[in-house]
Amino acid sequence: MHRVAPATGTPIRQDSLRAHNLVLTFQQIVDARQAPISRSELAAGTGLTRPTISRIVDELLTAGLIVEAGPARSGTSGRPRVGLSLARTGPAGLGLDIRAGALSACVVDLTGTVRHLEFTPHNGRDRPAEETLHSLARMARTAIRAAADDDLTVVGATFAAPGRVENTSVVRRAPTLGWHDVDAGAALTRLIGSAAVPVVVGNDAALSTLGELYAGAPEPRGFVCVSGEFDIGAGIVLDGRPLRGHRGHLGHVLVDSAGPPCVCGASGCLQGYAGLREILAAAGHDGPAEAPAVAIDALVSAGSPTVLRALDRAATGLGIAISGLLNLVEVDTVLLGGGYSLLASWLVEGIEREIRDRVLSARWTPVQVRPAPLGPDAAVIGAALDAIDTVRRDPNRWLAQPRRQDGQPRQASQSSA
Ligand SMILES: [Zn+2]
Repeated sequence: MHRVAPATGTPIRQDSLRAHNLVLTFQQIVDARQAPISRSELAAGTGLTRPTISRIVDELLTAGLIVEAGPARSGTSGRPRVGLSLARTGPAGLGLDIRAGALSACVVDLTGTVRHLEFTPHNGRDRPAEETLHSLARMARTAIRAAADDDLTVVGATFAAPGRVENTSVVRRAPTLGWHDVDAGAALTRLIGSAAVPVVVGNDAALSTLGELYAGAPEPRGFVCVSGEFDIGAGIVLDGRPLRGHRGHLGHVLVDSAGPPCVCGASGCLQGYAGLREILAAAGHDGPAEAPAVAIDALVSAGSPTVLRALDRAATGLGIAISGLLNLVEVDTVLLGGGYSLLASWLVEGIEREIRDRVLSARWTPVQVRPAPLGPDAAVIGAALDAIDTVRRDPNRWLAQPRRQDGQPRQASQSSA
């Protein structure tokens, strides 16, 4: 059996035990996904006594993290039991991202519901990193104020960066933005200017996958999400959980050893065939398209044969790269995210053809390729979910903050302008 005592062998401290039991109980409410859960179900699910559950529930109610909401699921006999679910006020997570042609900011509440989503036109590729970070910080401050108007307190922010990220802060390399060694986490924390809103940085493909996982309730338990706003990335979900520790740079997988040079310094990378701007360029449209997926879609609708050929070539490249991945991990669904979600009708067939020819298990276990539900919004929503996840996993820090009469922490009124 799992022991809670620390490795030193000293008895567990009373306050550590309280904190541990609180996390355990709160997790049951989070996992119920807004289906009201009763105190007796919490006792059964955690193995804690009814008095302990009552004390913890009172503490969570007072802190405004949960609310009493309708009858619980198990109303087998007698009077219906009062159900508990996550509050829609209180802590909130802030997500920020750079996408083709725009910056975006998103706020989600504790339930994971999007409460604020805003865009600003921006061409991140042609601007210095500092200017882009200033614009993102401005949007973050607006979002924090909008959240406060809805009785939400932003407890942290996550920035979805299209590139390689180290130590959850430094964008080591984002070739399509021209960024090298940009400490975006430190810069955004400073520019937003609120000690209560620390900023961490994550890879946009991984965060898109988190957003799609959370958004798609009936999704399969294992899927690959391929997205391509700038660099083509891939996130993997296995057994209902995002796979951690993989780099996800699908765009720099070799698809043709005789292929053209790539911005990464290698040649024949998938990016050269299936990047949205590269598809436009292959069709003879070199201009700076603010939203390349929309531009491609418009050209296809106008019946451009060169764009159709470029899309076919992109689908073949994507199919080759994805097949390599599917020969390594067991998933049965490929979601086309980011800008690809808009172009799925012209990509699915070619990708499926390559998968049928190249993935060993595809003969017995067919792989389905389809557009991702959130599409281009997945990264910023996933980033906001990542930010609120700190409270969802452990609400003790929120509980430890000094509170106003209404249960909100005092810092809520201090969000800087
Ligand atoms: Zn490359």
